[in-house]
Amino acid sequence: MNDVVILGGGPAGLMAGIVAAKSGARVLILEKMREPLRKLKITGKGRCNLTNTADLRAFLAEIGPQPNFLKPTFHRFFNNDLIAFFQEIGVQTVVERGGRVFPESNSAVDVATRLLAHAKTCGVVIKDDSRIKRIIEENGQITGVELATGAIIHGKAFVLATGGSSYPATGSSGDGYALARRLGHRVTPIRPALVGVETEGESARNLQGLSLINTRVNVWLEGRKVGDEFGELLFTHFGLSGPIILTLSRRYNDALQEGKEVVFSIDLKPALDDQKLDQRLRRDLDENGKMKLANLFKQWLPSKSIPEFFRLLELDGNKWANQVSADERKKIRMLMKDFRFRVTALRPFSEAIITAGGISLEQIHSKTLGSRLYPNLFFAGEVLDLDANTGGYNLQIAFSTGVMAGEQAARSAAGGSVAKWAMVNDQPAEGQSGAHSEGRFDPN
Ligand SMILES: Cc1cc2nc3c(=O)[nH]c(=O)nc-3n(C[C@H](O)[C@H](O)[C@H](O)COP(=O)(O)OP(=O)(O)OC[C@H]3O[C@@H](n4cnc5c(N)ncnc54)[C@H](O)[C@@H]3O)c2cc1C
Repeated sequence: MNDVVILGGGPAGLMAGIVAAKSGARVLILEKMREPLRKLKITGKGRCNLTNTADLRAFLAEIGPQPNFLKPTFHRFFNNDLIAFFQEIGVQTVVERGGRVFPESNSAVDVATRLLAHAKTCGVVIKDDSRIKRIIEENGQITGVELATGAIIHGKAFVLATGGSSYPATGSSGDGYALARRLGHRVTPIRPALVGVETEGESARNLQGLSLINTRVNVWLEGRKVGDEFGELLFTHFGLSGPIILTLSRRYNDALQEGKEVVFSIDLKPALDDQKLDQRLRRDLDENGKMKLANLFKQWLPSKSIPEFFRLLELDGNKWANQVSADERKKIRMLMKDFRFRVTALRPFSEAIITAGGISLEQIHSKTLGSRLYPNLFFAGEVLDLDANTGGYNLQIAFSTGVMAGEQAARSAAGGSVAKWAMVNDQPAEGQSGAHSEGRFDPN
């Protein structure tokens, strides 16, 4: 009989498995794809932004919708613990801009390979190609899971770690929501987050491929300015993308879902207020009166954007600078400071970095990540109604909740008597190392 059965072989599931095995449990991870950790291998553009060095307060500020739910979990296992853990399994890390932590190897595949090797060393058994289609409940306890093949796998405690709905080609196609719902767990509406947005009009398409740095985007919700973000953005064939748009997509996905009017207004000259920009335009126009407007614009804007600016301003680039009227100068200034894009939709889950929404936290104990409905069911990772900005926060959530859920599941399987897992380098419990190896896999 397996002590702990883990549903899903992502970062949360692997970490839960490692910790449960370290606590002395016989652990089986069931993974639907041919190999586990497929999503982890593509994180951080292949470099894997493992975590962030932000302190607890700043860290929680990057997370929604109920960051405080994670306090006990982060008190148990936080960013320093994760960095130490990876160091101990041979992954040295470096800290980059904004406290982002990456492996020194710059390789997400390396991180996945070492994590997997470590799990196996700890005696964790991983069964690939095993899609779970049902969780079996008897008399208020979870007793097993049914695979797509019809096989039943029993266990004493279970960790649901099937991920969200984003990038379904990696295996995370939202199965966990249906599995939990069938057990009576509530699931809050899911939305793509950290994703590009589609915009009205032709401008974004006309500018596709253009990337702007040091740009500010002001956000207007139903005609009222509600926020802004500074950094880098990208024009695409569908609308807008890039780091600041991903962040904003997460912040305003509820408003979009509710059909509210959301407008992203790009400020191409955030360092100059209206007055200073007007002075600069006037000076340049005066000093270069015999210059064609198309050439003068090159001093103000990226070349690729100029034809679109002339189209929107209905200006002729062959016009001399000294022929520009005060009204035209005002229009130029306004477009530079307030280049508006009405957001029509979020891009789909297939392009979203994460899923917002998920299994409701209301029915989960924050101190154990255990179900309030079933004493031997625990949750970890993105399947929960938790999500965060880019910067390494999402993986830390997956790993930390994995530690908590794995530890508590092992405790539950042992009837509540398991010692707290302390050091990653601790030897597995006596007689455990390799005893539950793949060669001796016992599905019952
Ligand atoms: C392109 C991209 C880049 C990212 N980069 C970063 C980054 O640099 N830093 C960061 O912090 N976050 C990043 N993220 C987010 C991060 O990858 C996720 O938050 C994290 O992988 C969640 O871990 P998880 O274990 O909860 O879920 P997942 O990684 O989604 O793993 C869930 C596993 O469960 C399996 N599964 C699903 N259903 C079943 C079933 N029915 N039966 C059996 N198995 C099942 C899946 O196949 C999958 O292997 C990125 C995401 C994407 C898409």
